[in-house]
Amino acid sequence: MLRLFLLYLSRAGWARGLITRWGVARRMARRFVAGETLDDAISASQALNQRGLLVTLDYLGESVARAEDTVAVVDMYRALLDRIQQQGLKASVSLKLTHLGLDISEELCQTNLRHILTTAKAHGIPVTIDMENTPYTDVTLRIYRTMRDEYDFSNVGTVIQSYLRRSEADMQALAAEGAHIRLVKGAYLEPAELAFPDKAEVDASFIRLLRDYLPSSGYLCIASHDEQMIAAGQSAAKAAALPPERFEFQMLYGIRTTRQEELAKAGYQMRVYVPFGEAWYPYFMRRLAERPANLWFFTKSFFSR
Ligand SMILES: Cc1cc2nc3c(=O)[nH]c(=O)nc-3n(C[C@H](O)[C@H](O)[C@H](O)COP(=O)(O)OP(=O)(O)OC[C@H]3O[C@@H](n4cnc5c(N)ncnc54)[C@H](O)[C@@H]3O)c2cc1C
Repeated sequence: MLRLFLLYLSRAGWARGLITRWGVARRMARRFVAGETLDDAISASQALNQRGLLVTLDYLGESVARAEDTVAVVDMYRALLDRIQQQGLKASVSLKLTHLGLDISEELCQTNLRHILTTAKAHGIPVTIDMENTPYTDVTLRIYRTMRDEYDFSNVGTVIQSYLRRSEADMQALAAEGAHIRLVKGAYLEPAELAFPDKAEVDASFIRLLRDYLPSSGYLCIASHDEQMIAAGQSAAKAAALPPERFEFQMLYGIRTTRQEELAKAGYQMRVYVPFGEAWYPYFMRRLAERPANLWFFTKSFFSR
């Protein structure tokens, strides 16, 4: 129930206004967000690279409603790509299609994405298209396929969510195409006819999907903080005799940081998803929804003021 309520709040405009004005929330969000500026994101990435961790940088934002607002988003992504290249960071970028104007028009979104992918390709920096909620699943996969065929195949990837009932069929098709896929459990509120309601089913689906995908010609990013998922990834990679450069683990900034370093030290590619920017509210609320203990800390801070 709590998870559902927090996911509802993550999309509620009134709650965004209330919570983002509150200093405690801003400070708590800093645990999951590298900062509000490009410089903050670059410094966090340098520190992670120094500890042997790869990075994927996400300029926070989603559901942009005015075409003129997408110009600044494209500019920021291009500036980000330039900085990654100039500073020799071991980093890719991640983006959301609704941040590039998908709610306004698919054409605008594709034009914006092409501007970013042109710069990314010139610098040889991979781009992953994040997966949003189910109204966007088909269009995200369609745009992903268009872009990876237009741009360098290995430089464009997307995300599959194990909580979706459709994901097994999607993964089979993507495996045959040799796609670059990040596998996650899924972070949005979805109806039971589209997504498994039980955690056990979501976990079983994640393990099934990674076992089927790893031996394919595709590239898999196993994105989870769950030890059971990590262990399943390790043993499936071993069974398929995959060398460490043929797959990677991914986790979010600020979550299980010790485990991130352990995996890197054990010789695995370990990439940290580093979000930055002022629009941290929905991202932060989804992180709270994943872990009630974080919410408890948040509530205590509220009442102790
Ligand atoms: C790199 C990366 C990219 C992602 N991209 C997307 C995307 O494009 N689309 C999408 O829908 N979802 C995305 N997600 C989010 C994902 O769908 C899950 O919501 C999130 O990863 C939590 O699931 P879990 O696999 O870690 O397992 P869970 O079962 O949620 O958690 C397992 C354990 O991990 C730890 N943990 C998990 N979350 C937290 C937290 N917030 N705070 C503290 N500890 C925590 C706890 O110890 C918990 O017991 C991404 C996740 C990662 C790691």
